Amino acid sequence: MTPKQVERMKVPLLDLQAQYATIRDDVRAAIDRVFESQQFVLSAEVQVLEEEIARYSQTKFGVGCASGSDALLLALMSCGVGDGDEVITTPFSFFATASAITRLGARPVFVDIDEHTYNIRPSLVTDAITERTKAIVAVHLYGQCAEMDPLIELAGSGGPPASLSESARQRGIPIIEDAAQAIGAEDHGRRAGSMGTIGCLSFYPSKNLGGAGDGGMLVTNDLDHARRLHMLRVHGEERKYFHKLVGLNSRLDALQAAVLRVKLPHLDAWTVARQRNAQQYELMFGDAGIADKIELPFVRTGARHIFHQFVIRVRDGRRDALREHLRARGIGTDVYYPVPLHLQECFAFLGYKEGDFPIAEAAAQETLALPVYPELTADQQDYVVSLVAEFFRS
Ligand SMILES: *Cc1c(COP(=O)(O)O)cnc(C)c1O
Repeated sequence: MTPKQVERMKVPLLDLQAQYATIRDDVRAAIDRVFESQQFVLSAEVQVLEEEIARYSQTKFGVGCASGSDALLLALMSCGVGDGDEVITTPFSFFATASAITRLGARPVFVDIDEHTYNIRPSLVTDAITERTKAIVAVHLYGQCAEMDPLIELAGSGGPPASLSESARQRGIPIIEDAAQAIGAEDHGRRAGSMGTIGCLSFYPSKNLGGAGDGGMLVTNDLDHARRLHMLRVHGEERKYFHKLVGLNSRLDALQAAVLRVKLPHLDAWTVARQRNAQQYELMFGDAGIADKIELPFVRTGARHIFHQFVIRVRDGRRDALREHLRARGIGTDVYYPVPLHLQECFAFLGYKEGDFPIAEAAAQETLALPVYPELTADQQDYVVSLVAEFFRS
């Protein structure tokens, strides 16, 4: 490339138009199909997607709903979480992970995260369990599964039944997987959403499998939960106008399902492209001679990391300056997330303070997501890496 081309290059954090260009005709045909049917809510289109996503996630059941946030809420409702209960989770996640808990009158009990994966640290969960613990919400942040085996053992639920000790089984605390960023991610061959009691997926447009608006799904191997979730998403109806439970109106639209069914067959290829881009970054950053300035994502043994985000860490307090350096040169980045949940203004009533979860607080200050979307080119990555290197040399 000539210097002039390099100068003009723009690299967004995510480029959905590039993806749409490759599936345009199929998406439009699918939308036509829905309009011809005039069936817009739930419908056969949604049922087929539920089966496809359940199969993809290695679960028996899929239950579509209106968003990933609602999936979390519905999952907690299905586990009977309510007033005065405690739910253990991570302080380093999207807001909905915690707000689903407080909306039910329950208390989020945060425990700190792992320094390298940014996921919840199972060894800290043990000490947080009380008589009131009603569920554990594990988040698979950035597209890598949290360490599920120790969670399954200490919670006494999920996993292959034979793997649990008797004392663990007696605790029987349900585990909800927040897999909004992790569809298709694996831990030793087991897919995100299939390991705990219920898995929650989001089809928000910027997720690895994104619709044309909001959408979500619950996946589970548990028939009782599947039945309850089917009721809960339609106002708790057992049959029309007979309400067994007080639920929500949280359904998946046929238009969303039709678009998602077009995209699902491409998802593995997109994931491979994201993984290839992540590997490219590793090589390029390795060659750039700034290994002591940034940390690259840590991938656990046995993990299929789907790189929803490629998150680097800048430890010397220069994260925001690097971000500005990149922004001024046309590179999109973002911080997931700048304020840990225990320090959110609306959760002040929980009584947490700065310093309670130092690892999450440091991550909020030091992490930065770089573009890793499937259509990203090697030239674009080269440009990003050269600008990061330039920043640290100056
Ligand atoms: C996106 C996301 C959600 C919420 O999903 P929506 O579909 O946007 O409601 C929940 N948890 C995590 C970790 C997410 O990334």
